Amino acid sequence: MKAIATGIVMLLLVGCSTTANNDFNSTLWIQTASEYKAISLQTYRSASSNVWYAINDKKWTAALEQSGDYSTLPVAIILDIDGTVLDNSSYQAKLLKDNSEYDPISWDHWISLRQAIAVPGAVDFINEVQKQGVCVVYVTNRECKKRENSKLPCPQENDTIENLKKVGIKIVNPDNVLLKHEVGNWGSEKRNRRELISKRYRIIMLFGDDLGDFLPNVKSNITTYKRDELVNVHNKKWGEMWFILPNPTYGSWNKVLQEPKSQYLRIY
Ligand SMILES: [Mg+2]
Repeated sequence: MKAIATGIVMLLLVGCSTTANNDFNSTLWIQTASEYKAISLQTYRSASSNVWYAINDKKWTAALEQSGDYSTLPVAIILDIDGTVLDNSSYQAKLLKDNSEYDPISWDHWISLRQAIAVPGAVDFINEVQKQGVCVVYVTNRECKKRENSKLPCPQENDTIENLKKVGIKIVNPDNVLLKHEVGNWGSEKRNRRELISKRYRIIMLFGDDLGDFLPNVKSNITTYKRDELVNVHNKKWGEMWFILPNPTYGSWNKVLQEPKSQYLRIY
């Protein structure tokens, strides 16, 4: 009887430790692993060493959307924001502590707090390239929408700009912060926005934490095999003009998986 009771207590304990949110290890990794900091620094440092070549090679473009004669256009880089420039792991950590999951209301509240910290290496890199005359454009899927207690049509834009300045980015031009739904056809697919930027600038580098920050049509209705294939097709761009940060917490890598996700575990 005592053994059965102990067993039940053990099951309850195991049950209690299983949170609704299964991002525990990935959030812990972002917040504690020196390896994460080193990868981020490594990414921005490698990019930095290529900027001079990219500026001076007039044929150099990082955007698949770039077309026509772009050799005389001013140069720009495009950065995603979340997981690329700003670290929102505090939001994830709060969800874990509260045993809750991502929802648009709590996410919008997090954005309004302007409390994200910087991804290691991002701020120095951005300030440095701006000094070299490179225009910095942010393409983010933070969504423009009405918020209670605000008369602004897109309070998220101000919050984001203020947060970027707060982490130490010296110049943030509001015209170069492009949010989801800021314009009608700007959905979570970022191709439209890259196309628009490529008409005004020669895009020398792309930065993101999601394949969708580089390529169109990779965020839904696609197999992991096809995504891998695209990574290989563009193999020479990685580390030269495409720079990706790790994000094990969320992203299209996870959204494209069908249930049950255990089917993707492979035993060699
Ligand atoms: Mg991101």
